[in-house]
Amino acid sequence: MPKSSETVETAEAIETIEVRDADVTFEAECLTYECGWQATPSTDGAAVDVECMSHTGRTGHGSFRRLCTSFALVVRNE
Ligand SMILES: [Zn+2]
Repeated sequence: MPKSSETVETAEAIETIEVRDADVTFEAECLTYECGWQATPSTDGAAVDVECMSHTGRTGHGSFRRLCTSFALVVRNE
């Protein structure tokens, strides 16, 4: 039965693969119409917040979309 042998192969593959969390990257973009400003992406969320605050200070723009991206590094255990 080809179906069941496929399942076994998948289970073996999972045992030999490991997922490691890597850095989280923070980003922010201004939501004011047609502004288009974006903070420099950083692994330090506070640094992105500071950039948003200085953008608000310069422009009066006060709403931002913040993104937090997490990366997974998948490696084979061999
Ligand atoms: Zn703006």
